Formats: sequence, C-alpha cells, structure tokens
Amino acid sequence: MTWFEYTGNIHIHTTYSDGVGTFDDVVEAALWAGDDFVYVTDHNVLVREREEGYRRGLLTLVGQEVHDDDRVPQRNHLLCLGVTSDVTGQARDPQQLIDAVNAQQGLSFLAHPYEEVTPLAPDHWAWESWEVGGYTGVELWNYMSSFRGFTTSRFRTLVMGIMPHWFLRAPLSKMVRKWDELTQQRQVVAIGGTDVHGWTIGMGPLRRVFLPYRHCAQALNTHILTPRRLLGAPPNGRSDPEHLRHDRELVLDALRRGHCWVGYDLAGATRGFRFAAWQTPAGVTPPAAESPHAIMGDGMALPQWGCEIYLRVDAPAVAEIRLLRNGHVVTRRWGRRLEYFVSTPGVYRAELWRTRWGRLRGWIFSNPIYVRDA
Ligand SMILES: [Zn+2]
Ligand SMILES: [Zn+2]
Repeated sequence: MTWFEYTGNIHIHTTYSDGVGTFDDVVEAALWAGDDFVYVTDHNVLVREREEGYRRGLLTLVGQEVHDDDRVPQRNHLLCLGVTSDVTGQARDPQQLIDAVNAQQGLSFLAHPYEEVTPLAPDHWAWESWEVGGYTGVELWNYMSSFRGFTTSRFRTLVMGIMPHWFLRAPLSKMVRKWDELTQQRQVVAIGGTDVHGWTIGMGPLRRVFLPYRHCAQALNTHILTPRRLLGAPPNGRSDPEHLRHDRELVLDALRRGHCWVGYDLAGATRGFRFAAWQTPAGVTPPAAESPHAIMGDGMALPQWGCEIYLRVDAPAVAEIRLLRNGHVVTRRWGRRLEYFVSTPGVYRAELWRTRWGRLRGWIFSNPIYVRDA
C-alpha cells in the first residue's frame, strides 16, 4: 500500500473577516512555501461558493471558524471544514453547532482550546464547553495563539515579532495532556492551524507585521496521507467541479481519519515522516513496507498469540523520537528510526523533537495508532 503525502496550511483568515490578506495573498504565500493545499476559515462567514477552487494551481478549500458573537465573554471557537452551507446560525449552542456540521458530513475541530493570558493579552478565546461530543478533533497546535504567553512586555512582544522562532518551543503542554486524556475515550484527531491574520504590531515608530502570511504558510502545517493521488488543477482552467470534489473529499477523509501529523516545518521540513504498524510473527522484523499496515489515526486489534504488532517511526532527519502510550513515553531514541513491539493495548503516538536555534523544540506530533484488545 502506497500513501501519497500532501502539506496543508489550515486555519487562515482573510479580508472576509478580520484578516489583512486577500485570497490572492493566501495563495501567493502558500505557493511560495511549497504547500499543496490551504483551508481558509474566516469568522462566521462561508465563502466557499465564491472562492473555493484551484487558484494558480493551488487547491484552495474554504471552511469557516464559527463562534457566538453575542456571548460574553467570547469562548468556543469551532473550525468547520467541508460544510456546504453556513452554520453560524447554530453558534449559540456548541453541541448543536457540532451536530449541524456532522449533518452536512463536515468536520469540526475545537480551535485554540487553551490560551495563555498575560497583562498585555488579557482576553482569550479558549474552549469552555468540554461537555460536548461528536466533534472530529482538536487544534493541538494553534500557531498564533502559542505566542500569547511571551507577551509579558511591549519590548518583548516586539522582539518576538522580529524573531518569533526564537521564542516558540512546542504546543502548550496543557493542550497536549488534554488531547491524551480525550483519546482515552475515543478517537480525537489532532491538527495544527496557523490562525494567520497578518496583523501589524508596534511600539512608537517601530511597526512590524506579526507572523505574515508567507511566514505562517511555511511555519506550521498539517501533513496528510491519502490512498490516492490528488488530481490537481484541471488543464482547462480552475473550475472543474469533479476534480475539486474528488480532491476535497480526499483531504477531508484524511483529516477525518487522523491520517495526518502536525509539523513545525520552520524548524526543518517534516515531509517524509511516517508512523505505521504491522502485524508480524513474534520477534520478526521488519516486514516489507508495502505489506498491509495501519498508519496514524487507524485502529488495530492486538493479535492473539504467535503474532505481534510492530510499530515503526521514520523521521525525515535525525531527531529525538519519543513513542508514547496513553500520554506517557515508553521509549525514546535519537536517530532517524524507532522500532517497537507492542504487547499492551493503548493509544500509541509519536513525538519528534529537534534542536534548532540553540534548544530542543517540538517538531512533529503524529496522530495515534489505537491498539485495542482482540
Ligand atoms: Zn479563533
Ligand atoms: Zn482563527
């Protein structure tokens, strides 16, 4: 079985809501960064009919980020992907909103579920209604939001605007712990979103665009694996509905199944990462890579006897590879590959850390392989 890999930049704002850039700016930035698709999600508006398609050859998908504008304080932002009609009317009740997305066969991700607060950034838009169910997953790493905790002074904020990579280490550990807790109950898919707006920050005459579109398009992506190739832009122009429908469904299906990882590509391209599992006779390594196997996001039953599950993590470059079971590290090593035989059911996922700009930084966060008892 061969998988095709595509790099997606998700959670993008444009002038349709509070972003500074247009769709053309988004596309220019994504092409510059080498992304394969973008998912634009403006606040409480759905411009899919008008804007979705292939733009300069780039698969440009349109969802929305929905929240209740009347709620005080503001909480519960939901990324809605694959919806065909605007679901903002359901925003008052988060569960109804999730149900409305599901009724359209769409996907929903809790956006920036945890946010840090400082005196300079006292307001936050965290997720509060944790009693909801039925959503697809969580935004494990919201790029823009993960800088909030560093805004402890105006000067520090400005320095952060100039060299953001120096500050950022990893997604919020509180968020990662919460995700591990959620996946103990059911499959919860993790994605990474940039939440790019292209806003300008400043101090006196010093002004700077904080996290511009190009920077975000390169920095944090959700990489998907699909069983078939995307068709890509039709040669006859940008509006072949069949190509678009085919490619959109492949993207949505990969996200729905958790066939994806969150890659901090600014710290080094994460293309080529793999996390897979094979059923194999006890103690026998490694089966041919093409033989049937499970990948991140899949479930797998622990074989009865005489067989084992062989897990393998392949890193695109030397990194500290950590394998976690139910949120706890079971083994780790530096290198390009980690192998492990599973004897206990559990939720297994991989984290890769890499030294960049003088310190260890979270680089790749895979969705789990769910190993259950036979
Ligand atoms: Zn938001
Ligand atoms: Zn947003």
